[in-house]
Amino acid sequence: MALIRISELTKHFVNGADCVSALHGLDLAIEEGTFLGVMGPSGSGKSTLLGLLGGLTRPSAGKVEIDGIDLYRLSNEKRADFRREYLGFVFQSHNLVPYLTALENVMLPLAVSRLKDAEKKRFAAEVLERVGLKDRLLHLPQQLSGGEQERVAIARALVNKPPLILADEPTGSLDSATSRQVMELFSELHREGQTIVMVTHNRDNLDWFDRTIFLRDGQIVEEINQRPETPARECA
Ligand code: ADP
Ligand code: MG
Repeated sequence: MALIRISELTKHFVNGADCVSALHGLDLAIEEGTFLGVMGPSGSGKSTLLGLLGGLTRPSAGKVEIDGIDLYRLSNEKRADFRREYLGFVFQSHNLVPYLTALENVMLPLAVSRLKDAEKKRFAAEVLERVGLKDRLLHLPQQLSGGEQERVAIARALVNKPPLILADEPTGSLDSATSRQVMELFSELHREGQTIVMVTHNRDNLDWFDRTIFLRDGQIVEEINQRPETPARECA
């Protein structure tokens, strides 16, 4: 069964007297374990799609189902619980809290959990180690490089072990070498079975994905399947 099922997803925004149509009638099914790339020019609806997948904004029509749950039929409160349990978000402007250490930033998603403080710290430290920042736990964001800050943001998205990671231009502000390291980290997570949907306009990232959809004017105009199923070999 697909982990994510999107049907006839449509989103309009009211912009003064205008109505901007950001997505029209999108249909998409994403299997568990997929690393999906979402590409397309600026304004094509990529972030809108990610926001709808993440339960951040309501669709004008259509639906989003994740693991069989119809996201927008949940009450706001239940949807917030669902987000905490199911989703990890990574954004380009990684939104780290400047006066909190790397460890404290990563502990934030655990704030409402019933874990003891010592356990929250242990989980956060483990995931920071996982992204290669074992010796940066007590650093503030400003004491870290751009790539390290992005890795803290990834650690924060991973700390509650969400089945789905949503990333919006996570390498958008990084130089190409650092960007590659961040993509390697995502790719490692993907090899471990993590489902990831990543918005990017960097064509260099294309090779990392299993599957890429291209948006234009709120519609899917092209799709590439980078890892087609290899047909089983017949015996001679
Ligand atoms: P992308 O991420 O591909 O650059 P977006 O999803 O951000 O594109 O935007 C798609 C379209 O929707 C654009 O025309 C944008 O101006 C419009 N849009 C996005 N968010 C809003 C908003 N909050 N209010 C009004 N218009 C919006
Ligand atoms: Mg965007």
